[in-house]
Amino acid sequence: MTSPRILIPPPGPRAQAILDRDARVLSPSYARDYPFVMERGQGAEVWDVDGNRYIDFAAGIAVNSTGHCHPEIVKALQVQAEKYIHISSDYYHDVMVRIAERINAIAPMQEDATIFLANSGTESVEAALKLARYATGRRQFIGFLGAFHGRSMGSLSFTASKARQQERFFPTMPGVWHVPYPDPYRPVFPIPPGGDIGDAVVDYIENVLFPEALPSDEVAAVLVEPIQGEGGYIVPPPHFFPRLREMCNRHGILLIVDEVQAGVGRTGKWWAIQHWDVEPDIICIAKGIASGVPMGAMAARQSVGAKWKPGAHGNTYGGNPLAAVSALKTLDLIENGMMENARALGAYMLAALSEMQARHPSIGQVRGKGLMIGVEFVLDRATKAHAKELRNAVVHRCFETGLLMLGCGQSTIRFMPALMITQDLIDEGLAIFESAVTHAEKA
Ligand SMILES: *Cc1c(COP(=O)(O)O)cnc(C)c1O
Repeated sequence: MTSPRILIPPPGPRAQAILDRDARVLSPSYARDYPFVMERGQGAEVWDVDGNRYIDFAAGIAVNSTGHCHPEIVKALQVQAEKYIHISSDYYHDVMVRIAERINAIAPMQEDATIFLANSGTESVEAALKLARYATGRRQFIGFLGAFHGRSMGSLSFTASKARQQERFFPTMPGVWHVPYPDPYRPVFPIPPGGDIGDAVVDYIENVLFPEALPSDEVAAVLVEPIQGEGGYIVPPPHFFPRLREMCNRHGILLIVDEVQAGVGRTGKWWAIQHWDVEPDIICIAKGIASGVPMGAMAARQSVGAKWKPGAHGNTYGGNPLAAVSALKTLDLIENGMMENARALGAYMLAALSEMQARHPSIGQVRGKGLMIGVEFVLDRATKAHAKELRNAVVHRCFETGLLMLGCGQSTIRFMPALMITQDLIDEGLAIFESAVTHAEKA
């Protein structure tokens, strides 16, 4: 039996007290869409400090991959915490080697991978950018409009999903050229005969960008998300990655794939890029890898990664023992069932949302792979005008009625629950979502 969801309209009194204290001491730069105040979590459900229960379709922004507080993760952390919590990457330890071996074993490259361990997504992107410059001796880069790669000065120079993220921070790192991401629903270029918008974007780089503005032999790397995350859960069409890989090969450009949000089993494969059978030179990993303990990683083909000399890059916490044991356990759990669950229940959820689309004119498109699904809202299916306010109203209504959701892009809501979620919880969450859509459409 499911327990009642909302007992006290949020924020309740206990939540409000924490919101007030938060406002006094925490940076106003954190963007919060609604005032959920966490008390505890279990699997794909969370409870707030006033006793309200929510289904969690956000999973801490695709981080709680094995669900909240999986008992085996908790146990692994407890056992490690009693041995040692930190020693730093100046020394050696077994769990640091084991997690690197494990990432190497699943990295989407034929060659062995060289692993750099970090603490967040942005740090794994910075490592990739520095390695790309170091290994190629080239200085410029290509990124994509709508991209999100982080907020430190290097990764921020690629981030282009909201103008607010750039406002008053220029100059960031120079030498980054943005091209449109291939969005099949909103193509910005005419589509060539027999091709798709992926061909059109690569043609634009080769036939416009290179001859007119950017010498291709000065480009160190292309940095790209396999499925655009913050930018709107956009799934590129079939030709894009094979054409991009071929273009990179021809010009000696490295292909860096940012798997921070899409990776680690979420899409039903270890890495989202594997849906297109394309091998990157470098991947960036974070979010889902350690079930919520901060961790990032960069995996590079050994012929690229081995070029760094000692001291070229480093950090204090890389390979942190708590993060490493949590990641090792996370990868075991994902391999032994959760990845298959993400594939199967992702297909189930996608089908259910597509059916829902037929009942709701405000839903313009439903798309995704595995448990990485986006529902895009439009004012009108013909013009595809973004229904941003309606999207925001749906997210809010979900919160008020017991479901945690997050937006992305200009008018999309993303579905990124824990990979262990059950069909019952999906059904319960989708029912809340649909009544929120109905409610917002009537308003
Ligand atoms: C979240 C995200 C990042 C940044 O990760 P942080 O841990 O917040 O620094 C980078 N790339 C992608 C694709 C992301 O979704």
